[in-house]
Amino acid sequence: MRYCDADRRPTMGLTDSNSMSREHRQPEPGCGDPFAADALSIEVAARRIEADIVPIRDREEVSLRGALGRVLAEDVLSPINVPSHVNSAVDGYAMRSADLPTRGSATLTLIGTAWAGRPCGETVQLGQCIRIMTGAKMPEGADTVVMQEHAEHTDTGMRIGEGHRPGQNVRMAGEDLAAGQPAAEAGKKITPAVLGLMASLGISRVAVRRRLRVASFATGDELRSIGEPLAEGEIYDSNRYTLYGMLARLGVDQLDLGVVRDTPEAIRGALERGAERADVIITTGGVSVGEADYVKEVITDLGEVTFGKIAIKPGRPLAFGRIGRSLFFGLPGNPVAVMVTFYQLVQPALRRMMGETRTSAARFEARCLSRLKKRPGRTEFQRGRLTVDADGRVAVSKTGAQGSGILSSMSAADCFIVLPPESGTVEPGDTVWVEPFEGTV
Ligand code: AMP
Ligand code: MG
Repeated sequence: MRYCDADRRPTMGLTDSNSMSREHRQPEPGCGDPFAADALSIEVAARRIEADIVPIRDREEVSLRGALGRVLAEDVLSPINVPSHVNSAVDGYAMRSADLPTRGSATLTLIGTAWAGRPCGETVQLGQCIRIMTGAKMPEGADTVVMQEHAEHTDTGMRIGEGHRPGQNVRMAGEDLAAGQPAAEAGKKITPAVLGLMASLGISRVAVRRRLRVASFATGDELRSIGEPLAEGEIYDSNRYTLYGMLARLGVDQLDLGVVRDTPEAIRGALERGAERADVIITTGGVSVGEADYVKEVITDLGEVTFGKIAIKPGRPLAFGRIGRSLFFGLPGNPVAVMVTFYQLVQPALRRMMGETRTSAARFEARCLSRLKKRPGRTEFQRGRLTVDADGRVAVSKTGAQGSGILSSMSAADCFIVLPPESGTVEPGDTVWVEPFEGTV
């Protein structure tokens, strides 16, 4: 498996020299019309975006449960040892290691019981043992626990056999975290595991970065919102829903500016409203070469455009720039292209702005079971489904037709199949890179 940080791209066989030479052929931002320039490689585009990112500084204090998905604003040092006391890792019998028989068995006198949360006051002497439950404090004198499955009640006490190790089944105080050690670092996204870790330290409130504010709207005269009847030639707007879902998962504050008609005035008004209130503005549609693609011209007039095209498929028309202090992402209109460009370029950028320091995505190799048509030139993000074949190797199949408007290819998928620019058609049996949509954290 390979991880690619936003700042460590390129990855997966795209050579540095390749992307650098491509970068050198690119005009610098601000020189000429970015929409007329050559399409940038995805690696160069990611670096240009990265260069413009200023992470949020503002912070707030929230309750532990409310911190899920937020980003830590400061290092959290452990105020205590976890666990706070030496304790048993199993249900069994606590004893002195000197009593462990090297051969045959030994019989020890049972002198008491230690419960989790209710220690036994007795001190274990040679020849003695104490019944102990998982998590119970180790009694004085004892340093070893024999699992109850390996001990036997006899008339004279507890008999234990050979094959045990001194110190076994004992958890040391501070072995998870010692007092004063960093438990979690600033810039870490708070996952369920971090919640549990904070709780184990007795921490009830944490300092997190404020939520990122993201405004978005869809453009297109053909778009109707759900609930409205469709006239001839109209379609339902789906981009606002995929965007809503992807942004909701990131935990940002959303400002949905709705569907905006294809007129420069309407688009200008919506962009201005977004720029007043949001850190980031995301639009869909209107950045391609059609007659009604007004987002391009309005953003050029209203803000600064860093680039307007990238060499990926789907998602070639993609504008990035800023309006005042807000970053601007003008995504394509095609529904799959919206998702691909969001996951590949917008999401890592938003996560950086939210203060996250690690925004890596896992990529690994899989055997492709489908034929994937491709022409060399662009990086392609086809949609696939992962399986494990009879030999335990990871395989991937494409999820039907791969057109940029075919959203079912995305909803049926659980990974991107990433085909680098130089790759041509992939034949069944070839090895490809895959990027799973979801992992466990
Ligand atoms: P555009 O980039 O505006 O030319 O749009 C490209 C294609 O995506 C067209 O077929 C549009 O109808 C479609 N499209 C644009 N916006 C949306 C949307 N919000 N929901 C669904 N399809 C859309
Ligand atoms: Mg349009």
